[in-house]
Amino acid sequence: MDISVVLPCYNTAGTLELLSERLIKVLERESKSFEIIMINDCSPSNDWEVIEKLALKDNRIKGINLSRNFGQYEAITAGLDRVKGDYVVLMDADLQDLPEELPKLLRELENGYDIVYGVRTNRKDTFFKKLASNLFHKFFNYFSGTNTDKGIATYAIYSKKVISTIISMRERYREIYILSSWVGFKVAKVEIEHAKREIGETSYDFKKGLDLALGAMFAYSDKPLKVSVLIGFVISLSSLVYGLYIFIRGALGMENIPGWSSLIVSVWFLGGLILSFLGVIGIYIGKIFEEVKARPLYIVKDELNL
Ligand code: UDP
Ligand code: MG
Repeated sequence: MDISVVLPCYNTAGTLELLSERLIKVLERESKSFEIIMINDCSPSNDWEVIEKLALKDNRIKGINLSRNFGQYEAITAGLDRVKGDYVVLMDADLQDLPEELPKLLRELENGYDIVYGVRTNRKDTFFKKLASNLFHKFFNYFSGTNTDKGIATYAIYSKKVISTIISMRERYREIYILSSWVGFKVAKVEIEHAKREIGETSYDFKKGLDLALGAMFAYSDKPLKVSVLIGFVISLSSLVYGLYIFIRGALGMENIPGWSSLIVSVWFLGGLILSFLGVIGIYIGKIFEEVKARPLYIVKDELNL
């Protein structure tokens, strides 16, 4: 098997048939042997029925039905755990990633790369979504000390070596671009077209997007802890300096006005800081708690052609 395509499906019942037709056309033209794995992440639309129909017609199309909605990257993991191809293509199933762009990625792969990322130059998402994503990349890069590219999302092709490394990492936070940036290997980037979502709606509302962004920050960096220690240190130092100032004024016989307001301000200010820093520590402990439970990353209900 040359190529495995992994498609997480959520609210994509309307695109799967067209997507698989267009993918098959491209892959056959490249004369590759392939499989297309569609994972139904408990979609509210009838994705699984569509997958069953497609898999019945063509046994190169394989289906995984998850027991509930686990999230895009858990669905991708379910697919990656079962791929047989020498290379793995990841893309969104809503036709925002165009199958016709795949040959560009394949040509670059032939130059001996292990990962080829598609970079969206003309990202066709809403202004707000692009803004949120740019902010996320700025913050994430600062906190994690990495240098991720805001044009890169899911569309990419990976060698078997990279995929087996990634699936050996069973941590819960699984954004694939971030995991794959960590593993190294020989990486290339290719500019690709990105399409508007024509059918169905994005499944990332503000809350889901924010959860993902904060998850990345706390899963991939201990910088929030270091920043809180730094802020605490700066505050203590300033209060020492201020104490010295009051001491000198007292020693020189200058009158110290009893300052109720400055006192109450510092009490609440410090109280707030202590609570928020405890919160940061709490978040990390929560992450450790999730990891030590070591629950499965996803649960499979049915499989087709696998
Ligand atoms: N997706 C998923 N589970 C989810 C949310 C999304 O499998 O809970 C899949 C979805 O089917 C699509 C991809 O993740 O293939 C990207 O989702 P979407 O198009 O909603 O996000 P956007 O393109 O707006 O970032
Ligand atoms: Mg989309």
